[in-house]
Amino acid sequence: MEKSHVINFKSRLKGCLIYGAIGDSIGGKYEGTATNLVIDFSGDWSISDDTQLTLATCEAIFDSEKIRPEKVAARFLDWYNRGKLTGLGASTLKALRELQIGGHWALVGRSGDYAAGNGAAMRIAPLAFKRKMERHTIKDICTITHKNDEAYTGALAIYYAIVRAIDGDWMGGDNLIEKILDELPDTNVKDRLIELDQLKELTIAEIGLRYKATGYVVDSVPISIFAAQKINQIGIKEIFTELVKIGGDTDTTCSMTGQIIGSLIGDENVPSDWMNKFIGLGIKDSIDYLVGNWKE
Ligand SMILES: [Mg+2]
Repeated sequence: MEKSHVINFKSRLKGCLIYGAIGDSIGGKYEGTATNLVIDFSGDWSISDDTQLTLATCEAIFDSEKIRPEKVAARFLDWYNRGKLTGLGASTLKALRELQIGGHWALVGRSGDYAAGNGAAMRIAPLAFKRKMERHTIKDICTITHKNDEAYTGALAIYYAIVRAIDGDWMGGDNLIEKILDELPDTNVKDRLIELDQLKELTIAEIGLRYKATGYVVDSVPISIFAAQKINQIGIKEIFTELVKIGGDTDTTCSMTGQIIGSLIGDENVPSDWMNKFIGLGIKDSIDYLVGNWKE
């Protein structure tokens, strides 16, 4: 990355959404398949809930400074009712079914250990592009689907990773984890991040041999942030390749890592082959509109 070049806020937001969708598409082709595959970036791309719920969140918050959880929940339900959500996890699905029959956003969804999925973290990114954000709002947005401290901390970790990129505090080096640790409550997510921070010399593949990248937020969020830290060393194509080879919840790990990296590098230099396939996803006009009318 060229460090002297200033990347503006809207380019970062667009980069976050585009690279998140690209990661979702690339990772989605290999979700749950065997490791050590030859990774093919061509072929058909399609997005899943990671991108869909991130865009639904954008729709709920883009035009006002204040974020209202009931509006976010209403957008989720709207996408669900129109059959536009694919690959939903159990906690999110439970919340949507309860919203559909009139449940209140603060009461629907899962709680307890089984709510510790990555479904809140995967869709939290747009909140990092709001300047006046309070922690209780982030928690409210998480709890619509996931009432669990690990799921919340995972979302908080993604949120702060993106904030550090937007603010220019993180420039693509292997110090992203240490720049967010102080913000996180004591949880298993934080403990895993501390472990990975001590293993920063290892490759993504080597981390993948020690830890899984399941849909459990303690597994997938820390490894996604760890992977983003490799951007200056190996580039985004190699990062996605290594994340796919680790296996597990690959659409979500690639999407979250893509969101963090996109927030760092912006949308100006998306590889042309990827851009063409991204356009084929049919969400470019919507993203252009949301970013163009975004209120910080
Ligand atoms: Mg998905």
